[in-house]
Amino acid sequence: MKKHNFSAGPCVLPQSVLEKAAAAVTNFNGLDLSLIEISHRSKDVVEVMNTARELALEHLGLQNKGYQALFLQGGASLEFLMVAYNLLDKKAAYLNTGTWATKAIKEAKMFGELVEVASSKDKNFNYIPKNYTIPEDADYYHCTTNNTIFGTQINEIPETTVPIASDMSSDIFSRMIDYSKFDLIYAGAQKNMGPAGTTLVVVKEDMLGKVEREIPSMLDYRVHIGKDSMFNTPPVFAVYVSMLTLQWLKDLGGVSAIEKINEAKATLLYSEIDINPLFKGFVENPKDRSKMNATFNLTDESVKERFDALCKQAGVHGINGHRSVGGYRASMYNALPLESVEVLVEVMSELERTS
Ligand SMILES: *Cc1c(COP(=O)(O)O)cnc(C)c1O
Repeated sequence: MKKHNFSAGPCVLPQSVLEKAAAAVTNFNGLDLSLIEISHRSKDVVEVMNTARELALEHLGLQNKGYQALFLQGGASLEFLMVAYNLLDKKAAYLNTGTWATKAIKEAKMFGELVEVASSKDKNFNYIPKNYTIPEDADYYHCTTNNTIFGTQINEIPETTVPIASDMSSDIFSRMIDYSKFDLIYAGAQKNMGPAGTTLVVVKEDMLGKVEREIPSMLDYRVHIGKDSMFNTPPVFAVYVSMLTLQWLKDLGGVSAIEKINEAKATLLYSEIDINPLFKGFVENPKDRSKMNATFNLTDESVKERFDALCKQAGVHGINGHRSVGGYRASMYNALPLESVEVLVEVMSELERTS
């Protein structure tokens, strides 16, 4: 039986998607050829790329609004610098909410003046800073909507006239927010959309072409847009699996439908963390808690061995916390079934009953 996969990334994907992907590796679209051995210029593969790009915009409600969707390589980590390369002319404003935001800041600093508008580093990133000022003359403001490692999530997008760029690697397509507030969104596929190997970038075209510097072709969003995201050989398999996941999401009823399931999963797990005396949440303000990655600790380390053993017995996989936080982290991405959370919660309450 398949384990309950709470991994933070690469993450759980729908079983039906895995099966379709496996079949396409041996025989794609009845062509008697593998998806991964045919030309990326062939009609069937071009269609995969176009469908994936359209579905991404459709799920975000950004069709026909001046946005382009691209499937690039290099991970979200390459976007840390690509965003700045393409958008940072003089000054950029960044919110520092964790490891990934810190890395994004480090890269962007190479391209111009960087203002850190606020940081939650003083408390090991266990909260989302609020009431900070975004300089009006910034080329853009950058935030990480969900902090995968620390388990915090931004629930209020600041009101500003400055364009917003955002790393949504770990919560894209998980909730209904007004995505049109963002001018650029990027997300590594392996958290909530597909396998590692591709990164979705959604960018408003009128943001581009405003910087003075020359941009190398592979790092220039306009070049990728001009070639319909096929400037060079795209990661065909990763895009295909992402497309299947986006279709799965559409069949389910889209982002609004998955949001309800995600709320149910998060409510169930956080209630257990709050009522069970053996556990304590890492993020104290419930408003800042991530619905994707729940971070928590044991209050009594002496039960750790037994908790780990119970988890293993129940098929609960991947809940060890990141080394910078410790404790546990249960990731509840779109494809994680509610039943998996029920199993974890049952293990947590069994631990209490038998302590
Ligand atoms: C995982 C993650 C990254 C890094 O993604 P790569 O694709 O490995 O470069 C960046 N930002 C966030 C929020 C993440 O969760």
